[in-house]
Amino acid sequence: MTSPPTNCWQNYYTPETVAEAVALLQRYDGQARVIGGGTDLVVEIRRGLHRPVTAMVDASRIAGLDAITEENGYIMMGCGVTHSQIVRNAQIIDRGTCLAESCSVIGGPQVRNVGTLAGNVAHALPAGDGTIGLLALGGEIEVAGIDGTRWMAVEDSFRGPGKSRIDRHREVLTRLRFRPTGMREGSAHHRVMRPQGLCLPIISMAVRLQLDDGNTITETRISMGPVGPVPYLAKPAIEVLVGNTASDELFSKAADVALSSVSLRASKYRASHEYRAQMVRTFLPAILARAVARATTAKAVPKGTGS
Ligand SMILES: Cc1cc2nc3c(=O)[nH]c(=O)nc-3n(C[C@H](O)[C@H](O)[C@H](O)COP(=O)(O)OP(=O)(O)OC[C@H]3O[C@@H](n4cnc5c(N)ncnc54)[C@H](O)[C@@H]3O)c2cc1C
Repeated sequence: MTSPPTNCWQNYYTPETVAEAVALLQRYDGQARVIGGGTDLVVEIRRGLHRPVTAMVDASRIAGLDAITEENGYIMMGCGVTHSQIVRNAQIIDRGTCLAESCSVIGGPQVRNVGTLAGNVAHALPAGDGTIGLLALGGEIEVAGIDGTRWMAVEDSFRGPGKSRIDRHREVLTRLRFRPTGMREGSAHHRVMRPQGLCLPIISMAVRLQLDDGNTITETRISMGPVGPVPYLAKPAIEVLVGNTASDELFSKAADVALSSVSLRASKYRASHEYRAQMVRTFLPAILARAVARATTAKAVPKGTGS
């Protein structure tokens, strides 16, 4: 017979409003933890990786925060939105394609059906796939606490591996948003991981770009992980691309510059440094080309999402 985890919570709450959730967290004064789908948190608690908490405050049942909507020029996702919802959403497929692609590679259907994008971002791992997709899109998150709510750029929410600026004992990530891609814009994501054994990503990368009528790149964002303690916005590679005409040579140069700005650790669980570098050299140009194709044809058929 397996014994129950020693640090299991005593109370589980399903608040229906943000105010109720925040009040519960306040009442427990650091002894409660926010939970979404539980696909990271419960696994980690079972492995004894968290200090004990008295209560769980489930953010995935808050009324109105389980939907994907369009508001004030943003695509908005409540914290209860699962990866499966994102992968199936027509607006995100068309105008946030890299997010649909990045959420589609997370776990299997069971994990995607309950795991949330909010949980992926709040967990703050260096290579959370949905996080990498949202980061490339220029995503923002709304955080609610006792002092009110604030929006912040996704990249500003990370403090270190698994460490977030969201106080997950006292604050709730309530909504996530990004500006959808428009005319002559496209995005793409690709992840390389070991097909067997431990499900650790070798590299996860996403891009968003905009072209003018002459195919000069006017704006772009490139995100990568794991290449350091937090999900990485590859600014040096972005600088190489902006103002130049999209081409295979330019994309290869951007990959080289991206590589020179990170240190890819060799890991027996992931791959050698050389292999990981080769994956960046191969797939960063490939997703840049895919984003260009999407920008110029206005057609986005996400890879690997079954669409
Ligand atoms: C078998 C398996 C395979 C997986 N494969 C992948 C994969 O391929 N790629 C990948 O990126 N991940 C993967 N994961 C990890 C996990 O499924 C995702 O990170 C998922 O998005 C986590 O979301 P969740 O809602 O389950 O978060 P939870 O487990 O509920 O929470 C995760 C963290 O975020 C905090 N949190 C959750 N929601 C909020 C909120 N609204 N406000 C504040 N804090 C919050 C929690 O306190 C906790 O610290 C896998 C997990 C499993 C079990």
